[in-house]
Amino acid sequence: MSDCIFCKIVAGSIPSQRLYEDDDVIAFHDIHPIAPVHFMLVPKLHVASLADCSSAQEGLLGRILLLAPKLAAENGLGKGFRTMINTGREGGQEVFHLHVHVFGGGATLPKT
Ligand code: 5GP
Ligand code: ZN
Repeated sequence: MSDCIFCKIVAGSIPSQRLYEDDDVIAFHDIHPIAPVHFMLVPKLHVASLADCSSAQEGLLGRILLLAPKLAAENGLGKGFRTMINTGREGGQEVFHLHVHVFGGGATLPKT
């Protein structure tokens, strides 16, 4: 998707503070963090949202979720963190390329 900001980050044409990359997934720090540590796990494949995933993405979704605690611990969130997937306009999604937020650090997060 040529006009997708996260596809541009995946391609490297927009810079990001990367903390992880493999063949299928990248992770980078959110440009507007809502906690002392706040990064996102993003599939390299352009899928607009969780609602646009199919069984073809089952393995990819599993890999992303399994990476979350590993990268969280490596980035100072060994005592806990929150994951968030905003889906669709009414779900608060602003960037329509699937991503899983991971954030925390500093203090116990409030209950939602
Ligand atoms: P959403 O609301 O779609 O779940 O979250 C999109 C997130 O992407 C927001 O937290 C926003 O700060 C972040 N974001 C938007 N544009 C950029 C960018 O160019 N670079 C980085 N690193 N994060 C971005
Ligand atoms: Zn994209």
